[in-house]
Amino acid sequence: MARRSSPVCRLCRREGAKLFLKGNRCDTPKCAFERRESAPGMSTFRHGKQTDYGAHLREKQKVKHHYGLLERQFRKVFALAEKGKGNTGEALMSLLERRLDNIVYRLGFGISRAQSRLLVGHGHVTVNGRRVDIASYLTRPGDVIRVKNRPKSLQLVQAVLAESHREVPDFLSRVEGQQPEGHVLRMPEAADASIPVQAQLIVELCSK
Ligand code: SF4
Repeated sequence: MARRSSPVCRLCRREGAKLFLKGNRCDTPKCAFERRESAPGMSTFRHGKQTDYGAHLREKQKVKHHYGLLERQFRKVFALAEKGKGNTGEALMSLLERRLDNIVYRLGFGISRAQSRLLVGHGHVTVNGRRVDIASYLTRPGDVIRVKNRPKSLQLVQAVLAESHREVPDFLSRVEGQQPEGHVLRMPEAADASIPVQAQLIVELCSK
């Protein structure tokens, strides 16, 4: 699978917002964006006034990087959101939040979305008792995401839970203990995203 190899903190500086890509470090004074908000590169300031197109593009890039998607993956999700009957922006954010890698991260089982994707890909979690190793799997209300009952999986997740103890959003609930599990309580909405997003800008850009 194609993956991005550039330093992730540069992405936050590029997008002018904290994207929370490095787990616990993002909430400490070591955060690169806290120390230097300027865009990466030779110049220490942002060049000129942002164009209308630039504002739309940056919003899309921000969301794409936040959820750790490549352009093609993002376009697939957008196409799915467009097919729905409701508001495309709302549907887009809901689809992104429903992804299994994101759910594992929001439940606090993984230190970052990147690590959560690995947890899923390596078969450390089950959905409704069945092994699901597809990061883009779309969860539904009523789904139970459980850490696999084997020492390595439990050890990995217990260590993250002990270290970060991240708060769980309203649409999920977490049950800790010997074998941690999470429940999807309802469909997530755009407001449930962990960063503020102007989804309409993305719709205007991608619908062209
Ligand atoms: Fe972004 Fe986290 Fe790096 Fe800060 S530490 S710049 S929030 S990835």
